[in-house]
Amino acid sequence: MPFLQPDSPGRPGSAPGSVDYRFARRQLLHRFRSGELGQNDVCDAQPELMRVATNCSQASTAACPVCGERQLRVVRFVFGNKLPSGGRVVSTRAELRKLASAPGRRCYSVEVCLGCRWNHLLQVVPLGAAAE
Ligand SMILES: [Zn+2]
Repeated sequence: MPFLQPDSPGRPGSAPGSVDYRFARRQLLHRFRSGELGQNDVCDAQPELMRVATNCSQASTAACPVCGERQLRVVRFVFGNKLPSGGRVVSTRAELRKLASAPGRRCYSVEVCLGCRWNHLLQVVPLGAAAE
C-alpha cells in the first residue's frame, strides 16, 4: 500500500529497531507550505485508509497540519509472520500485545485527517517494543 512506503527515509527512533518518520513529515509539510506541493499531493489518503481511520483509530492530541480544522486520528497496522499481506489493523493496546506473541512483526503508525485526507507514516516499531 503506497501510504506505507514513504518517499524519503526515516531515522532511527527511540525504541531499538524502530524508525521515526517525523523528519520526513516535516520536510513534506515544508514543501507543501512553500508551494512546491499542492494539497492534492499531500492529502491523498486512499478510501480504505479513510475507512479504517473512521472506524478503528485513536484520537491524536495534534491538529491536522494541513487544514487545522480537525484533530488527527492514528491508525496502527501490524505486518509480519502469519498476518494478511495488507496487515492487520489494531484498535486496542490489548490486541497489540496479543499480536506481539509472534516474532518478526512490526507496527506501523499512520496519522490521518478525516477532513482533508492528510496522511503520513509516523513510525515503524518492532512489535515487542510497541506493546510495552
Ligand atoms: Zn486536515
